[in-house]
Amino acid sequence: MNIIKIFQKFPTQESCIDHLESVRWSDGVKCAYCGSDNTYPMPKEKRHHCNSCKKSFSVTIGTIFHDTRIPIQKWFLAMSLIINAKKGISARQLGRDLEVNKDTAWRMAMKIREAMKDDGELLQGIVEMDETYVGGKPRKVKKNNDDDKGNPRGRGTKKTPVVGMVERKGNVKAQKVDKQSLKSKDLNELIRKNVDPNGSVLVTDEYRGYRKVSSILKHYTINHSYEYANGEIHTNTIESFWSLVKRGIVGQFHKVSVRYLDRYMDEFCYRYNRRKECSECVFNEMLINMI
Ligand SMILES: [Zn+2]
Repeated sequence: MNIIKIFQKFPTQESCIDHLESVRWSDGVKCAYCGSDNTYPMPKEKRHHCNSCKKSFSVTIGTIFHDTRIPIQKWFLAMSLIINAKKGISARQLGRDLEVNKDTAWRMAMKIREAMKDDGELLQGIVEMDETYVGGKPRKVKKNNDDDKGNPRGRGTKKTPVVGMVERKGNVKAQKVDKQSLKSKDLNELIRKNVDPNGSVLVTDEYRGYRKVSSILKHYTINHSYEYANGEIHTNTIESFWSLVKRGIVGQFHKVSVRYLDRYMDEFCYRYNRRKECSECVFNEMLINMI
């Protein structure tokens, strides 16, 4: 669903409400207060009345679309822009596209990201696992100060670590972790939570944190100091996901607060995991999460 289709299909607030009703009440209208299906529509007001509890309600009640002065069409447009922006879209850009100020755009995008949280199923098959580092202070080395080595790259940096796992040709999961949580025990815990050990194989680099992984599942390592792939043993899939994340965070979001990093990761994972689905299906699925 691109923005042209949004304009065509949902030109008015009423058409947006009709669509929300069809998504929220696909099995028939239910009272938002008591759950009764004994209701009748009040089409003029775009509301419904409940014969059981005698209250009236609209489809937006209890949803993000309710207490907002932003027309629902702008929400739909924001969702569409975010779904279709491979590298994400900055609040500033979203604000310009929607003609709202950038703080409003930022809040809208954050609400939409909440609907992009994926519990998802356990990963299976050949799973690649790796960490990357995002955000934090830029590298800089002061002159005449031998103690300040700047912000080193890789493990040992001041940036925030993010751990990711991806199935070959499948889904990805990624989350922020504490710097102290890159030890064997913590990484093993993450694997247990996210990977189905039965019949799955894990591929990582030779980082020491992974050395106890073979107690959970079959484990292969690739030594990046002299090779990038050894047949099926490589981490190219997760690396290309990281490059997408980095281009997004550097290019679009510029600075991502550590506090919100997981929401941005949810966004990148959500989009990646639905890269083969039709954008209209993704749009409606997201809408269900939002209401
Ligand atoms: Zn009721």
